[in-house]
Amino acid sequence: MRWLIAVILLINAASAAGEDRYCTYSTYKWNAYQRSAVEFEEVSKLYSDLTPEEIDTQTDCSICREDQVSVLIAGKHSVQVCKHIAPSIESALSLATNAGQEIEEIRGYRVGMTKGALDGEGNRTQFSNHSFGTAIDVNPQNNGLYENCIDFGAHCILRKGGEWAKDHRLSLHAQSPVVIEMKLSGFKWGGEIQGKQKDFMHFSYSGY
Ligand SMILES: [Zn+2]
Repeated sequence: MRWLIAVILLINAASAAGEDRYCTYSTYKWNAYQRSAVEFEEVSKLYSDLTPEEIDTQTDCSICREDQVSVLIAGKHSVQVCKHIAPSIESALSLATNAGQEIEEIRGYRVGMTKGALDGEGNRTQFSNHSFGTAIDVNPQNNGLYENCIDFGAHCILRKGGEWAKDHRLSLHAQSPVVIEMKLSGFKWGGEIQGKQKDFMHFSYSGY
């Protein structure tokens, strides 16, 4: 009986330290050759077994579902983001909607390897910022992701979401309240990033 109590105490101590907590997530890889998502996988592992690639050092946000919370924007749109940055996203978006920003759709947490170098089969090898719940997409149907787009113009190729149009009420630009407020909160806007991509719907700390 005494050993049983000792075992239970040990289990409780480990539980209090969080070592036996489970991390779960579903993921996929983006295949650049096929231009499609492949290798869908449901993962369940101990937090203590997480690898460095599964944790964002800047925010301490992991790709675990258990680290995400739902934030309600303007009383109607719910978005899942990492618990460590949820208050700053909630406050930026509520200031933006109070300043007249129209939000029709918003997306946050979604785990997938859509960044980084390609492996031998053409699969991307790094988790996106959305994977950690540290990026959001606003009004994707009017704020596409474009490639071949150092400066915006007819040569840009739409790869995700819908066409960006300078004068559309749901398309974002440098003076949009959500762009202003998210930048004041330390985020970068994908519409202003250097390089060949313009991701008008996207906000994260790096912009990518
Ligand atoms: Zn995005």
